[in-house]
Amino acid sequence: MKSTHEHYLSHRVLKINVGFLLSDGPGNSQDSRLDIPSAVRVAEDLIINTMAGPLRLTRTKEGILVQAQLRIGITAECSRCLEAFNRTVEVAVEELYMHPAPVATEFFVGADAILDLAPLLRAEVLIEASQRALCRPDCKGICPECGSNRNHESCACDTTRIDPRLRGLRQLLDSSSADA
Ligand SMILES: [Zn+2]
Ligand SMILES: [Zn+2]
Repeated sequence: MKSTHEHYLSHRVLKINVGFLLSDGPGNSQDSRLDIPSAVRVAEDLIINTMAGPLRLTRTKEGILVQAQLRIGITAECSRCLEAFNRTVEVAVEELYMHPAPVATEFFVGADAILDLAPLLRAEVLIEASQRALCRPDCKGICPECGSNRNHESCACDTTRIDPRLRGLRQLLDSSSADA
């Protein structure tokens, strides 16, 4: 049961026990589905709201190959109106988790046979999230004069678009005529 006071599911849901696959020989695989309907804190700098998609784990000589095609909901900022909105990113992941773990890698399965999807998801989602996105295709953005969000209110500003360079020129002309 999920408590209503629980804001984020633990990222433990991203830790998969692959002991059974490790003891199976190379070539064995397991297909499953990730379906996480609630928010998960993946890392210090990343919370995902939802996640769903097929996941395949394959035992190889070197470890466990992770393949997944995920639809991930994140809270993003519209690059036009700067408001937060629910954004869905499609992420295709394919990564070999080494086992036994060599010295320097983020992706490994340790002696506890736990495969942690968190570092992989973080890497992939942050790349996707860095792409510009709009809250909706026809986002009207922010009024350059008064700063109001034009999706929510229409302001009375003169919306005649003036090229900023021409605006500077006009100010220059205004001030030089005032000097004269
Ligand atoms: Zn917007
Ligand atoms: Zn305005």
